[in-house]
Amino acid sequence: MVFNVDKIRSDFPILSQQVHGKPLVYFDNGATTQKPKCVLDTIEHFYTKINANIHRGVHKLSDESTKAYEQARETVRQFINAKSTCEIIFTSGATASINLVAFSFGEAFVGEGDEVIVSEMEHHSNIVPWQLLCERKKAKLKVLPFDDNGDLMVEKLDELITNRTKIIAVNHVSNSLGTVNPIKQIIAKAHAHGVKVLVDGAQGAKHGILDVQDLDADFYAISGHKIYGPTGIGVLYGKQELLEQIPPWQGGGDMIATVSFEKTTFNELPFKFEAGTANYIGAAALATALKYYQSVGIEAAVRYENELLEYATQSLLTINGLRIIGTAKEKTSIISFLVGNIHPFDMGMILDKMGIAIRTGTHCTEPVMAHFGIDGTVRASLAFYNTKEEIDKLVEGVKKVKMMFA
Ligand code: PMP
Repeated sequence: MVFNVDKIRSDFPILSQQVHGKPLVYFDNGATTQKPKCVLDTIEHFYTKINANIHRGVHKLSDESTKAYEQARETVRQFINAKSTCEIIFTSGATASINLVAFSFGEAFVGEGDEVIVSEMEHHSNIVPWQLLCERKKAKLKVLPFDDNGDLMVEKLDELITNRTKIIAVNHVSNSLGTVNPIKQIIAKAHAHGVKVLVDGAQGAKHGILDVQDLDADFYAISGHKIYGPTGIGVLYGKQELLEQIPPWQGGGDMIATVSFEKTTFNELPFKFEAGTANYIGAAALATALKYYQSVGIEAAVRYENELLEYATQSLLTINGLRIIGTAKEKTSIISFLVGNIHPFDMGMILDKMGIAIRTGTHCTEPVMAHFGIDGTVRASLAFYNTKEEIDKLVEGVKKVKMMFA
């Protein structure tokens, strides 16, 4: 099947604009993806026709709002192949999903002297919540290292896991190195020792067809805005039997069954973890985004992104003095690089003037930068609406910047 990128681009209104008088080349998809028109339409339609708070109303709009929200939950369930909608918790993003698990799982299962393992390539969102937990509980944080290509040293888990290890938190896809981690293997290894696994799927949820049952993940965190949905919405998938055993992380409306000053009882799953007014419009728009992605063809999109990755890698490597940070065996379309001594910020600022949006800095992965002894990188992260012509523009742009600094 030919991947019709022109047709796809026409679905994303933002892509046709000019920046600094140049056609926008958007290569910052790791930070956030652009939204197809159908997602924008869902938001507008909801606010102009349906909007009413969910779960608490007897009137028609509230009923419609509630149905749309719960339908969105079912769409997410299907998208990740969870067993039940009670395993789908809407959050504000991957960060909130991870914090939820670090707090609630931590309260139930982590005590003094216990151990939590994170990998060396985690986003700060999958480090700091665990550090906070370990400080609170006097537990120990251990680190699974990666090698200089950016491959996790999975075999080291055998040494790291002890009978005090409670959970491993690892990303599916690294946002700064582009590594696709062997999470199924990691989960199997962890489970062999009775250890639970949280997968940070902020970058990974769109990397192929996701099947949480096949992975046997205990928890999987998803970011809505990185999978063509709006900001402010995310998902935590958790196995029902685990979610039932862990306490709520925030208190408020909707998450309760009964409240008195003597005692509060909690709502059933998944509502126990959704305190306050949910982002129901975000959830509905996320569902539209997931359906859109499925209609494009997830496997075809990933194949096309891999082609772009290969093309970009080869093209960038023709530039003398350009070094790619992150050369793992399995990679997704995220390329971090440095050119000679040129500071990533200088590169980013000048490329911006050419209409090319890339990200510079540590990408919220300071330990990754420390591993390579660098301050930051230039990162081009590609999506299925990008083209080889855009990659050519990036390569030309980088060459120009290099000339300026020669
Ligand atoms: N983990 C990874 C690997 C990420 O790339 C990001 C976002 N940069 C996050 C977590 C945080 O996601 P969110 O913005 O949904 O909180």
